Amino acid sequence: MIHRQEVHAPGGPADPGTIPLAVPNIGQAERDAVLHAVESGFVSSVGPAVAAFEDEFARRVGARYAVACTSGTAAIHVALVLLGVGRGDDVLCADFTFVGSVNPIAYVGARPVLIDSEPGTWNLDPSLVAQELDHRARAGEPMPAAVEVVHVLGQPAQAAEILEICQRYDVPVIEDAAESLGAGWSGGALAGRQTGAVGRIGCFSFNGNKIVTAGGGGMIVTDDAHLAARARHLTTQAKVPDVGYLHDEVGFNYRLTNIAAALGLEQLRRLDEFVSAKQRIAARYDEKLKDLPLTTPPRVSGMDSTYWLYSLLLDDPDDRDPMLEHLAREGVGGRALWRPLHEQPPYREARTVGGAVSESLFRRGVSLPCSTSLHADEQQRVVDAVRSFHSR
Ligand SMILES: *Cc1c(COP(=O)(O)O)cnc(C)c1O
Repeated sequence: MIHRQEVHAPGGPADPGTIPLAVPNIGQAERDAVLHAVESGFVSSVGPAVAAFEDEFARRVGARYAVACTSGTAAIHVALVLLGVGRGDDVLCADFTFVGSVNPIAYVGARPVLIDSEPGTWNLDPSLVAQELDHRARAGEPMPAAVEVVHVLGQPAQAAEILEICQRYDVPVIEDAAESLGAGWSGGALAGRQTGAVGRIGCFSFNGNKIVTAGGGGMIVTDDAHLAARARHLTTQAKVPDVGYLHDEVGFNYRLTNIAAALGLEQLRRLDEFVSAKQRIAARYDEKLKDLPLTTPPRVSGMDSTYWLYSLLLDDPDDRDPMLEHLAREGVGGRALWRPLHEQPPYREARTVGGAVSESLFRRGVSLPCSTSLHADEQQRVVDAVRSFHSR
């Protein structure tokens, strides 16, 4: 979901008049680490930064093991293979998410079953998951091979409820935490836990638009030593160590490079700073826009959202495109939210449970600039632009 215009160094935008939606925040420590990796000769997928990144990442999210890979999409692909998901299987997945959540389900030949969001967190609705699993149990139909929970926009899903339902039917849960690094729970059954570290396998992304970037990259986390070892094996072409070119199954070239890991590790060390910045920006937007005919992002007690991509819901869906045009004219880089997966050409035939909430989020949603480096005066320009649209 990154646009070319957003990939530029802070302070050097192509069009200095436009406030970009979100740009990476790359500092001197990151530059030094990348240069060091280049000069060390460890440029590819062997090198000390990869293991260091994995170790620090596992500790940061509270998982026992972390395995670095080339993208968030690759992480989800490997997670599905690890769970033995394949042809003929169903996988329940959020309908309202970026397409990278669901494509790996198609890669392994399985069928996504698209489940609507609940309006409280904009994420997978536990009552619809329960309805689907209960229905299958009663009808004697096979259970899905996995349930994929996504924590969209930095907002934790109602994972405790979903984990409980899935446990009842012995269905493994994969978390797509690509957008929610640093988010977690401070209340309820998961208090003290981080998104991505509560399911069987958690998947993260370090694409340029995520809160921590490695240029590109992903991470697979789990508490299961066997799954972690197998993830490492699968991401490195299933090569058997110390035996000449022996590959004992079909593997992938999905290992993260040392250069990317060096960048990702230094970015990870700034995660708290980035989360604070996102939360500060969100609080300011909430305060300055609360009287307008719109809904600000979820604020749920016991759930600590990072507000990775600050997004509003306009009361009137007919306002969305005119609002985006108005913002563009005012030099503000706004963006619509995702079209629900059940409306995407490759997934139109997928079984869908509900769908009215995801459609409403898509038709009403507008994301606002929220780079961690956004200055207060720039943010005020965004606020003024949103307000002037409503006072037209
Ligand atoms: C970015 C993203 C992905 C894919 O990650 P990549 O690293 O871009 O492959 C998957 N799911 C969600 C929700 C994302 O935002």
